[in-house]
Amino acid sequence: MPSEFLISRRFSQLTASESPAMAAARIDVFWHEGMLKHETGSGVFDTGIDPGFLDILEKHPENPDRVRNMLAILRRGPISPYISFHSGRPALTSELLTFHTQEYINELVEVDRKGGKEICSGTFLNPGSWEAALLAAGTTLSAMKHILDRKGKVAYALVRPPGHHAQPNKADGYCFLNNAGVAVHMALSSGCRKAVVIDIDVHYGNGTAEGFYNSGEVLAVSLHMNHGSWGPSHSQNGRVDELGEGEGFGYNLNIPLPNGTGDRGYEYAVTQLVVPAVERFGPDIIIFVVGQDSSAFDPNGRQCLTMEGYRRISRIICKLANKYCEGRVLIVQEGGYHVTYSAYCLHATLEGFLNLPKALLDDPIAYYPEDEAFAVKVVESIRKYQLENVPFLKET
Ligand SMILES: [Zn+2]
Repeated sequence: MPSEFLISRRFSQLTASESPAMAAARIDVFWHEGMLKHETGSGVFDTGIDPGFLDILEKHPENPDRVRNMLAILRRGPISPYISFHSGRPALTSELLTFHTQEYINELVEVDRKGGKEICSGTFLNPGSWEAALLAAGTTLSAMKHILDRKGKVAYALVRPPGHHAQPNKADGYCFLNNAGVAVHMALSSGCRKAVVIDIDVHYGNGTAEGFYNSGEVLAVSLHMNHGSWGPSHSQNGRVDELGEGEGFGYNLNIPLPNGTGDRGYEYAVTQLVVPAVERFGPDIIIFVVGQDSSAFDPNGRQCLTMEGYRRISRIICKLANKYCEGRVLIVQEGGYHVTYSAYCLHATLEGFLNLPKALLDDPIAYYPEDEAFAVKVVESIRKYQLENVPFLKET
């Protein structure tokens, strides 16, 4: 057994004194079977292309299996006694229009009516996809409403297709509708003054950033692999200097992390950059946007989070929610494409919100060594940049 694995196991034994003083006794999970109807086909990774010289074509990475396993681990894994399941619903057009333009929604409806197409690279709207996209947005709204109605504190929207790349007028990166974005608008129109979105999917949450780029009511924080722009559907770079505009200037905080950052590097970034920003901002609600594609084994990312990394980040988010938001957190599912490990990392993510003396589920495969020195250096330079350039973070 590699020594790193032993270290990771040692880290996984949480002590009661490290646990948040208050934590959720249960997590309300919102789900709807109709989201499995979004079929994305197969080909060379996410291209849908059969080159003719392969015997086995893999499924598109954003396929129903990944979410089936997430659902299964919550139903039958050690965390199941803490989970309460609720049914989602389709979103109304009026709800979509809080984030998206009418022209864009009309375009998607028209594509669906004509039988579907690849809207942009790797992003296929096939028969059944539109129904699933409406359910993903609506199910996220159901979860948000549950929190706003004070029926629960921690709610998780298990949804697909994902949403954080969807911009007000554009699909991108497997996303059609910005599920978290419409939920933020619901919170703001229901009495919340300020919302913070903390996105740890491995990719830049460019759609969410775009939707709130001019808003000072929404602090959008994204930790991501430093992947840059990837074409016309994703023109944003995710750089530190993309800070927002107008009243939103300073309220879009990008944290591009070097490839291979890992558990300790991520934890350092969260404690050094996310926590102080949230403390200064003082939100009423946290929207925690999670992709398990930041994990060590994901085919779509180059970061090295393990279950313990996800668990630790969640515990920090839980503490922030307890301190500023009466414990209220909406967790929204984004990417995560390793069909097995994504489910395990989801389990760990949700464990982080429970006040448990030790981990419920051991990591079956984490063994990568981690050298956080470079990541720490990058985080320090981002901190310096933000303190010099972000008005609300400048020391008084
Ligand atoms: Zn992603």
